[in-house]
Amino acid sequence: MKLQSHKMKVSIDEEPSHLEPFKHFFEQLDSEGITIEKLPRPRIEDYQLKAINATLAHTWNGNEYYRSKLEEAGFAESRIDSLEQLASVPLLKKDVIRGDKTKILSVDPKQIGQVHLTSGTSGKPIYTAYTLADQYVYDLLPKYLELFKETEVDIAAIALPYEFALPGLGFQRLFQFAFGTAVLSLGKGGYMAPVDKSLELMKEYQATVLATTPSYAALLVEESEKYGIRIGEDIRLKKIWLTGEGCSSTFRDRLEKWWGCEVSFFYGSTECGGIGVECSEHKGYHVMEGHVKVEIIDPGTEKPIPYGKTGEIIVTTLLREGMPMLRYQSGDIGYLQEARCACGNTMDVLHLRGRKENMMHLNGEDYSPFLLEHFLMEIPDVGMWYYFKLNNGELKIEAEPFRTKLNDEQLAEKIRKHMSDRIGINCQVEIRHDIPRTFGKATRVIN
Ligand SMILES: [Zn+2]
Repeated sequence: MKLQSHKMKVSIDEEPSHLEPFKHFFEQLDSEGITIEKLPRPRIEDYQLKAINATLAHTWNGNEYYRSKLEEAGFAESRIDSLEQLASVPLLKKDVIRGDKTKILSVDPKQIGQVHLTSGTSGKPIYTAYTLADQYVYDLLPKYLELFKETEVDIAAIALPYEFALPGLGFQRLFQFAFGTAVLSLGKGGYMAPVDKSLELMKEYQATVLATTPSYAALLVEESEKYGIRIGEDIRLKKIWLTGEGCSSTFRDRLEKWWGCEVSFFYGSTECGGIGVECSEHKGYHVMEGHVKVEIIDPGTEKPIPYGKTGEIIVTTLLREGMPMLRYQSGDIGYLQEARCACGNTMDVLHLRGRKENMMHLNGEDYSPFLLEHFLMEIPDVGMWYYFKLNNGELKIEAEPFRTKLNDEQLAEKIRKHMSDRIGINCQVEIRHDIPRTFGKATRVIN
């Protein structure tokens, strides 16, 4: 009788997968000494078309919901002939999968290696099931050596949630298995993860990289003073990766100054995994085109819109067995650009404008909260903690002062004038000294 083998061995090495051919594609790139980052566009697009067709066939055979939707849309077989035809694949809406753990599950439930949940504050969660091969083989196939400079000499502190959602464990696997980097799993906000211990551990092990959210990067640096830990001396980072909340470039500039290192953005989601990474030029996210195909649609007509036009970000995963996402409506707003980046990467560039529900309707126009934050953060007397509130179409800003000689009234006037001069928005301002710090996702916009 054959003994039951090690679980990982069975699932990863012996299970047949529709993704098998892509192992060879990425091995071929390795042998050419190139990554997908700098491939000529036709080769990227040829790979993406093949990966989408493999995913369409996999879901057609393995998932009733996807198959019925494709048939309703007129598909007689599970393939498209060009990337433009992807637009004929039905969109996947959040509400369809909310609270339903099998709707788009495309493998035998016995193959599930891990389940993650979205951190949505309202309603039922979105469950995302990954096979072990998704996590440990296919997610690691595309390499982005230009975008990530981390190596085995780095020590990466991961101050992201490890519970429920993907970020903590996702970054952990990336650092450990893609770069060979040692990891300090700090977590964020959990009961085992107080700020002082997190800073102590970073100091003790001389962390060189930190992955966290914008608000938590600000909180850590604020709190370090309290615990007598000197940023730049006791903790000397080379790099911070920010993810989870999104923020403006001026917020980033402040963090760079405080931490004394480069700060870059990473865009991903629990449902789709990694989507975009900033290069050293800091001019948008290069789409991780080995992992995902990104489209932008007009939120009204739901038709794809061209480069340069702002709309909703639609994501199709390319290397997933468990729960592939076919044209998933992310709820995020942004626009795409053809890569003409000084870094030489050929992967499209995505500009993120924030969550659809956080767009602020002012003076008949939609404003991204990142844009408003950008202007607010231009005022050095304003701290990192603030709220934007909409009252009957009028903007109210609640902000904290930061190392300023101005009294509250003078600061409020300064903010009012600055916002009016810079974007022509009249707003109410309240200076507060008690905005609560959060270990969770920072809420900046209250509609
Ligand atoms: Zn670039």
